[in-house]
Amino acid sequence: MTTAVRIDAAELELHEIEDRLEALGIPRFHGRQIFQWIHRKGVTNVDAMTDLGRELRAALPGHFSIGTPAVARQERSTDGTTKFLLRLGDGHLIESVFIPDTPSQTFCLSTQVGCAMKCAFCLTARMGIVRNLTAGEVVGQVRVLLRELDMRGQRFNIVLMGMGEPLHNYDATMKALRILGNEHGLAVSPRRVTLSTVGVLPALERLATEPFMPNLAISLHSTTEEQRDALVPINRKYGLQDLLDACRRFPLKRRNRITFEYVMLDQVNDTPEDARRLVKLLQGIKAKVNLLPLNAAPGIPFDRPSDERVNRFASILADHHVTVSVRRSRGRDIRAACGQLITESTRTPAPGQQLASLMQPPGAAHR
Ligand code: SAH
Repeated sequence: MTTAVRIDAAELELHEIEDRLEALGIPRFHGRQIFQWIHRKGVTNVDAMTDLGRELRAALPGHFSIGTPAVARQERSTDGTTKFLLRLGDGHLIESVFIPDTPSQTFCLSTQVGCAMKCAFCLTARMGIVRNLTAGEVVGQVRVLLRELDMRGQRFNIVLMGMGEPLHNYDATMKALRILGNEHGLAVSPRRVTLSTVGVLPALERLATEPFMPNLAISLHSTTEEQRDALVPINRKYGLQDLLDACRRFPLKRRNRITFEYVMLDQVNDTPEDARRLVKLLQGIKAKVNLLPLNAAPGIPFDRPSDERVNRFASILADHHVTVSVRRSRGRDIRAACGQLITESTRTPAPGQQLASLMQPPGAAHR
């Protein structure tokens, strides 16, 4: 027999585990057991998979590994939001955030190490893109959070709003959602998942055909092509009008709506004219708007508008019958809020060093 390459079972969909087992001459039905242990019960030590039989337990580690991100640091905000710094198998660091009671429990997951989208107000953008996460690394964040928060068996929502652009890592992201949704694992319903994107159009069109259809959030942030070109540079390739057309065509279940996220930058995109343009742009789309007053950070060349400006903007939308909410920022004291996730991209800096790099003055830490 040739020596088999060990494959990470946590990266595989159920049918892939079954196929592997079959190729090894092991009955397929053991795949379900293994999948349940990993995903439903969070057990990654084959010796503890007690219904597998001694021989199989002895054989499996020769063929499979089971990878899980390691917790490098955990920080709890005064509001209960908890940020996890996770170390991947190759040493790269990502962040995942637990947001309690919004009203349900929410896991905010990363899909990439860093991000390529270069949005002008986002701290993750400063890292550039380091690499895509694998499906197993996306799913692994859930396994770690359930364990660390002692939440196994509880309901939770998932928002793909951590580091990275999910539609720029399409295949791994969708595979992760299929693994999370599998009835033999966590059985996370697509209704409990929200995918947030800047609008990578070809991938958005593909998403519209997926059987596992998460809720959609679009990071809009601007009402003119010129301004969006500057704030969300992918707009130069996939413009605002085309994005909104794609949203109009996007299949929505009854009563479902697309969320439009709108980061508010003081004196930049927060004027009454902006609000009125936004109303116009969203006509004919089943939409709701989520206003995100900027979470300021060193190195981000914008300010957070006053509550008064935010409220004024929100009222204009509401007066025109656009559903609007203002995102109360969670975990700002630990930099776990939107656009504040950033990790040192070098392999294994000491935690103190990572912290130091976050504290450096504008522009000094990266590029
Ligand atoms: N790349 C995806 C997923 C990230 S979601 C996307 O852009 O949609 C994170 C959300 O927080 C996005 O809407 C992003 O634009 C927003 N954001 C980024 N930086 C921010 C900041 N400094 N303050 C408030 N929101 C921010």
